[in-house]
Amino acid sequence: MHEDRDATEEHAKPKKKASKAEMLEAEQRCICYRCPSYIGETKKGFCAKGGSEKIKRELGCICPGCAMKERLMLKNLYYCIYGAESEQPEADRFDTGY
Ligand code: SF4
Ligand code: SF4
Repeated sequence: MHEDRDATEEHAKPKKKASKAEMLEAEQRCICYRCPSYIGETKKGFCAKGGSEKIKRELGCICPGCAMKERLMLKNLYYCIYGAESEQPEADRFDTGY
């Protein structure tokens, strides 16, 4: 019971915005350029920096294969379309088994 309550409280915390250093690291390590959805874009690091103004269609997301997944404890997909991890809803949009 005690553990359940702790888990709920943890989940209810607002997600922290990425720091400047994390944003820089995401930009450097980002593999979006290999993704089928990465069309007409040159920016990177959407999971930390926020979404793309150019990518609109979900054609696959390779974020689960990126080093930043563990680094930032990412729980979602399609950061280019839906915004940074901190901007996405509390309930993870995709149950991808992260
Ligand atoms: S998790 Fe996705 S958006 Fe974030 S740096 Fe990696 S490939 Fe880019
Ligand atoms: S955030 Fe995901 S869907 Fe968007 S370009 Fe990067 S890997 Fe592809």
